[in-house]
Amino acid sequence: MTRIEVSLKKLEDRSYSIFVGHRCLAELERILSELELKGSVFIVTDDNTNELWARKIKKHLEHISECVKTISIPPGEEQKSLRTIEKLARKLINMEADRTSTLVAVGGGVIGDITGFLASIFLRGVAFINIPTTLLAQVDSSVGGKTGVDLVEGKNLVGTFYQPRLVFTDVDFLSTLPREEFLNGMAEVIKYGIIMDYDFFEFLEANVEKILGRDPDVLVKTVSHCCKLKRNVVEDDEKESGLRRILNFGHTIAHSVESASNYRVKHGWAVAVGMVAATLIAVGREIIEPDDARRIETLIGRFGLPVSLPENLSSELIINGLSFDKKRRKGVLHWVLPRKIGSVEVVTGITRGEIKNAIEKLQGKSL
Ligand code: ADP
Ligand code: ZN
Repeated sequence: MTRIEVSLKKLEDRSYSIFVGHRCLAELERILSELELKGSVFIVTDDNTNELWARKIKKHLEHISECVKTISIPPGEEQKSLRTIEKLARKLINMEADRTSTLVAVGGGVIGDITGFLASIFLRGVAFINIPTTLLAQVDSSVGGKTGVDLVEGKNLVGTFYQPRLVFTDVDFLSTLPREEFLNGMAEVIKYGIIMDYDFFEFLEANVEKILGRDPDVLVKTVSHCCKLKRNVVEDDEKESGLRRILNFGHTIAHSVESASNYRVKHGWAVAVGMVAATLIAVGREIIEPDDARRIETLIGRFGLPVSLPENLSSELIINGLSFDKKRRKGVLHWVLPRKIGSVEVVTGITRGEIKNAIEKLQGKSL
């Protein structure tokens, strides 16, 4: 038998920068020219973000490439499918994209996830630039390199880890974002404070009105700080083996609430309730002081996010849904519970009774 070693140890540097600013579109040309992109540029966007922002962005991109084209798809999570990937890939071929082409996502998490995935597999990988336009995408999905689409069996079940060459965020994009979509991202913002940064949590407490009023300076501080915090986690744990798990705070129950409601409950809403549920479990175990728990619930509520569950979502349905969480490892559910504001621990062995107790407290009653 002949043994042939295929040695692939050469580490590739996939470092990139995230730029965060306000009314900074004019700087896009200069920033992009540093990347020395050579070929044609394809903007992938949805019909809303195309009208609102991608047209403007296209004008700036035309300064760095002679060939800039836009592909716009309908908005909505339903688009996050393999069917869309195939359609877009065929469109790109028909529009003469080649290996030197760059895909630029202009939109929320849906567009970012689809475009990143497509860039990672189209012609075995082309350059990807992400221009996130929702708060959720700016603080969460655009950092960390996760891409992918949904299957009927569940969300994000097919995808890749693929880093963008650049993330460009202008908080001005958030000026057109509906309140509901804005709050969707706020849940993740609050999450960062609870899991890893007490001072940031205090900053949020002091700036609720300014954030809700979308004060650009406060938004730049908020978004860039969240990107730094997520960057720190991702740098240490790119492929999600340990530390990155803390980002899952509030998500164990959130995923179940989302699917139990047939995705009528938005992700951020589910995360808000999930964070309160995890906090209640921590109170029950005397892991966290009740005063800290109340502060967590109060901040979530002050932003207009839910701190209770509708009665019609039964605790049974939510608990049964937990077993389908893809983050479950070897049959064990890992719970991220707050120890105090700014610090969490990962716990296993939470009983059905404890979960039921927390969910029932969430149905109508407060902490
Ligand atoms: P998420 O980042 O929450 O995954 P989606 O990509 O699903 O977001 O976008 C949510 C909705 O918000 C979509 O209908 C999208 O077209 C719309 N949208 C995205 N960015 C903006 C914006 N800056 N202004 C207004 N609407 C936007
Ligand atoms: Zn999330």
